[in-house]
Amino acid sequence: MHGSKEQQERIIQGIPVSPGIAIALLHVSARGFAAPDVYEIEDSRLAMEHQRFDAAIATAKQELNEIQLKLEDMTSTEEARIFEAHIMVLEDHVLLKRVHAAIDERRQNAEYCFYAVMQNFLEGMRRIHDSYLRERTSDIEDVCERVLHSFDASQRVVKPRPEDQHILISYDLNPSDTATMDRSMVLGFATEMGSINSHTAIIARSLGIPAIVALEESVIEIQTLTYAILDGYTGKLILHPTEKTLASYRKMEEKKSRARSALDSLRDAVSETRDGRAMILSANIGLLEELPMMKKSGAAGVGLYRTEFLLLKDGQETLPDEEFQYKAYSEIAQAAAPHQVIIRTLDSGGDKLPAERLDEPEPNPFLGWRGIRVSLDRPEIFKPQLRAALRASARGKVAIMFPLVSGLSEVMRAKDVLKQCMDELSQASIPFDEKIQVGAMIEVPSAAIIADLLAKEVDFFSIGTNDLIQYTVAVDRVNPYVANLYRPTHPAVVRLIHRTVSAGAQEGIWTGVCGEMAGDIQLTPLLIGLGVEELSVGPQQVSRVRKAIRSLSYSECSIMADDALKASFTGDIHKMSFAMAKRYYGELFE
Ligand code: PEP
Ligand code: MG
Repeated sequence: MHGSKEQQERIIQGIPVSPGIAIALLHVSARGFAAPDVYEIEDSRLAMEHQRFDAAIATAKQELNEIQLKLEDMTSTEEARIFEAHIMVLEDHVLLKRVHAAIDERRQNAEYCFYAVMQNFLEGMRRIHDSYLRERTSDIEDVCERVLHSFDASQRVVKPRPEDQHILISYDLNPSDTATMDRSMVLGFATEMGSINSHTAIIARSLGIPAIVALEESVIEIQTLTYAILDGYTGKLILHPTEKTLASYRKMEEKKSRARSALDSLRDAVSETRDGRAMILSANIGLLEELPMMKKSGAAGVGLYRTEFLLLKDGQETLPDEEFQYKAYSEIAQAAAPHQVIIRTLDSGGDKLPAERLDEPEPNPFLGWRGIRVSLDRPEIFKPQLRAALRASARGKVAIMFPLVSGLSEVMRAKDVLKQCMDELSQASIPFDEKIQVGAMIEVPSAAIIADLLAKEVDFFSIGTNDLIQYTVAVDRVNPYVANLYRPTHPAVVRLIHRTVSAGAQEGIWTGVCGEMAGDIQLTPLLIGLGVEELSVGPQQVSRVRKAIRSLSYSECSIMADDALKASFTGDIHKMSFAMAKRYYGELFE
């Protein structure tokens, strides 16, 4: 039904970041300005689409001429020249011809063909290493938007989209785009940028949206309404799949769903190794919508609640108040019962939104004003959050942890603010858990190195490997160009985890891992062997990690981890852990 005979099956490779299969039409959304609706045009309407395009160009040109004349009357000719340049774009015969050709070839509506041709052109300019040309792209984007507004909407086909459920293809997606995605419509997504440890990828995994990043081809080469398969297991985007390919994917989906059901049947089984070491297996969440998935997974509560998505919404001027946060935290605490929820205080910055609009973007946001640094500088943000978390501790089991700790004084100052909040609540006779547990995230090498000092001040450690890896090996966690250097089994990372766990044990506090490494079942033997006591993973990963824990022996893992600590190379450490994983639960890698 989909794809005409002359369309050859074609595979674009990317990096898989969220498992699953999606089969649907593609919708491509490029940078700069929003894509217009796209729909197919019947042969009998083609001539009309050519006319609509010519008419839109004529209207846009007329508008620009009028603006130009007005400006010439009012001011110097300098400003008027900008619009002359805009008009020149609309008189570019090569571009106009390309749009007409696209209408005939694609048989899609004129505004979409115009959009696609212009995006292709703009993308070419954006990639030229010339700052003057790159800056000119915003002028051209302005013209494009004007033309798109000039199309006569009354002549449109009534039903804009033939099929609404789609696979989204985008140059890039930020975490809030992903968090607010209409999941009944978007069956999967693929982006040209991105990496496996970006918050966008983490959310996709958490929500179970199959996803691929770092596509090897420019997204603009991909046509909207192409029928495709997105394979989130191997990172393949298959355009115009043949019937044979489709059949094999349908078979694979059935097999995967059988395997999932088998794992789900272990939902209530204890997370304990074969030789009786109990592990806490909890879930990471960032959205309240994930609570049902957390419950369904049988996770032992929430090991990391990322509060950024609750607090920082795109376009929102002020942060939600204490009352709003209290309600959300209470809802999570009640859902997690009888287990606990660990509320991480705001970790703005990095690849997430800043807590407040900065005049200038930071040159190195990951090394800048983020995490606990922002909270300590902004008590008006920090205190309502702490008060809300404390109040929620009267409604369920709540713990608090601080992100991006890099030194002892930060923890002490944060605890002072917490103490002030406790005193205020006590004075107002507002109930809270006076013995609330307080933890530090260990995600900066300096924190791991002084873990012995920090351990005296907190009740637990939670290792944020996503950041710990990036800061230890100096590899940006969201940059696809250095993704091959981002390795959790780098000997330095393994030693820092070991150091943290040992320092914690020395002071009698527990250490967990809540970074993405905790959900990688190839590395479960290593983490268990290093003495980690809690693994907090995406809700979709809980059942696989449970199976891994139950298949392993703690004493064997410890011997392997001792060897790993003596190893010199990343690859060797990975091999040791993966070999044990394959030996005991090889079927999970099929
Ligand atoms: C981490 O850094 O591993 C972590 C869990 O925090 P985030 O991914 O939100 O930075
Ligand atoms: Mg982090």
